Amino acid sequence: MPQMVENEYSLYIHIPFCVQKCDYCAFYSVPLCVRSGASEIVRTYLDVLIFDIHSQIEHFSVSYIPSIYIGGGTPSVIPPKEAAFFFDALQRLLPNKPLEWTVEVNPESVNADFLHICKEYGVTRISAGVQTFNQKLRQSIDRAGRVEDVHKSLKCIADIYGSNFSCDIICGLPGTNPDILKNDIYQLLRYKPLSVSFYDLTVEEDTPLAKKIKAGKLCLPSVDMAEEMWLLGRDMLRAAGYEQYEVSNFALAGGRCEHNVRYWRMRPWLGAGPAASGTIIYDTAAGICASPVKGIRRVCVPDVAAYLKTGRGAFPALYEREELSAACLLRESLMMGFRYIEGPDTALFERRFGITPAALIPKTLDLWRKQGLARPDIPALTTDGLALQNRFLHAALEEADKTLGTD
Ligand code: SF4
Repeated sequence: MPQMVENEYSLYIHIPFCVQKCDYCAFYSVPLCVRSGASEIVRTYLDVLIFDIHSQIEHFSVSYIPSIYIGGGTPSVIPPKEAAFFFDALQRLLPNKPLEWTVEVNPESVNADFLHICKEYGVTRISAGVQTFNQKLRQSIDRAGRVEDVHKSLKCIADIYGSNFSCDIICGLPGTNPDILKNDIYQLLRYKPLSVSFYDLTVEEDTPLAKKIKAGKLCLPSVDMAEEMWLLGRDMLRAAGYEQYEVSNFALAGGRCEHNVRYWRMRPWLGAGPAASGTIIYDTAAGICASPVKGIRRVCVPDVAAYLKTGRGAFPALYEREELSAACLLRESLMMGFRYIEGPDTALFERRFGITPAALIPKTLDLWRKQGLARPDIPALTTDGLALQNRFLHAALEEADKTLGTD
């Protein structure tokens, strides 16, 4: 393997179980019947997961893990006793204590026991999937948990974690309106989370939601109304002191999710569990390695049964491997980097590709700066620019190809 500058990887762990499937969801997860044999299935899964994570840490000679993100699915469906087993086993595998460790929870399944165990084993941050405080909207998307559960869970999280948590809110659900959105943000702010992910709804093909909309059973807000609501929510968050630090993410001072920042800045990470992906980048002191393969994306097959069956056997077979060229990594670095309010990591970008973002796309940056859509100090978009990120990327990628002579 080419020499690495640092064997530093973040770690994403996928828990592919949910209480029930939300209508809009395109993530890989399977419903877990909490009553019948859940502990046994979950325990077997966690056993295999530990083996998988251990194999990857060994295989890639990982010497430092700055951040861990346990997502899903719904990690809070793990019974507290199994969670303690898993966190304990995980801690023993790690080469160091991570600076940031996030666990996702959902209101219908999280409880004080689970949160206390998170705290005891070093989880630094909780991410709560709220989505909306409106019961009618929750039902329309088949989201588990009632509004009372949402309040109860947020109170419990705030009691145990203070402000060290984030909440997800979706804008543009079927049947919503500006008053509902205003109430969602207002309710959320009562709990003072350090960060908020405020997303526009994406209707993924072949989901039950897409089918209901196609059949006329549900109706999305108009594009204008969805935009108006997003701006309304953004302004409420801003007025409450939240800074927009990414296209859909807001935080109070010190509340940015460092794990996500590392994705946006194309730092390598390992992924474990069905459907999880990881990105290995062969950095060297002089840039990226001399071989034609500069990186590898590993994606685990989205099949929990196959994962359990493979058990402690041939893991590489469950991870599909895509080779990443320098051109591919450069494009991804632009696409990911300009999502973030600080832009791509200029020093890392230059070391990897031999050119800074500013030298790669000078005309695009200049034009966007003149319109107040790019920051004057660094190659990055302003918050107004982030709203037009797709348009920016179209121009930036075209100019990058011209600069590099690859168009
Ligand atoms: S809880 Fe999250 S992962 Fe589970 S079905 Fe709903 S959106 Fe998907």
